[in-house]
Amino acid sequence: MGRCRFCNEKAGLFQDSHDACMRGAETSRVALGLLVSDAVKSGKTFADISHEIDLLKQEGKLETSEVRLLLISAADRASQEYAVHAPVTQEDFERIFTIYKGIGYEFGSQEIKGRSWYGFPSLALSRIMYRVLHGEEVEYDATGKMSFHLSHSEQPIFSTGRAILATFRDVASRNYYQSVGMPIGGGLYYRIGAATTPTHQTSLVPSDEGEILLTTEALYFGGLKSTFKIPYGSILRLEPFTDGIGVFQSHGVGKVFVPDYSGMEIGWFLYNVLTFLVNKTN
Ligand SMILES: [Zn+2]
Repeated sequence: MGRCRFCNEKAGLFQDSHDACMRGAETSRVALGLLVSDAVKSGKTFADISHEIDLLKQEGKLETSEVRLLLISAADRASQEYAVHAPVTQEDFERIFTIYKGIGYEFGSQEIKGRSWYGFPSLALSRIMYRVLHGEEVEYDATGKMSFHLSHSEQPIFSTGRAILATFRDVASRNYYQSVGMPIGGGLYYRIGAATTPTHQTSLVPSDEGEILLTTEALYFGGLKSTFKIPYGSILRLEPFTDGIGVFQSHGVGKVFVPDYSGMEIGWFLYNVLTFLVNKTN
């Protein structure tokens, strides 16, 4: 006679659970996911939902480790949506931080990258976006990063550890850069028009690899082959990609920067921040 893995009572021959226990567990799982997702999106803190988490966990007879993963996954999805929906304020960022902490998210752990949990890093980028858009100073930690010679009035905003620089080619190439995705869709603070969607596949060829720095005045690139600065005033057009940003000046070919940001696609962030900075300059 097998025992039920939920209630530990006898469950019948070849059975590892009662149907009722299984249904109860599933109902609790769904409710827990909705609870944390709603909390992220509707202004709640961990204190507002912790009691209900305990109740649902008990009702569904769920294991602590399962509940933890379920809650973090739900918070992660909700946070990714929340981060791109609108720039996140400091207050909101701190509020959602309490939820992550409460449900057992381990900041800076390998688990985050392993499971592709990009929700919290997305919130952090959205908070930077908020500060830029409101003319507030951005906290920038230059530790371990390439340093560029900046002007006195210039403030660093954001940099990527490693980025691919690619350029557009009219002809098909064997070196076609595969990872550049389609332009991003709606739901952004700065709406991206339908006109940005290309009617034909654009081919891009990687030409260099290096670090990008965005400041209040320019985009810097320090690569293996070349180092240059693109002042925002010289930018005529920006093209969004899910995983990068295309920059067009009045001279030369368009440049596409594709950062390797721990596997995260941050085109939405680059496009919004750069659009604001370029518009402000021109
Ligand atoms: Zn049972």
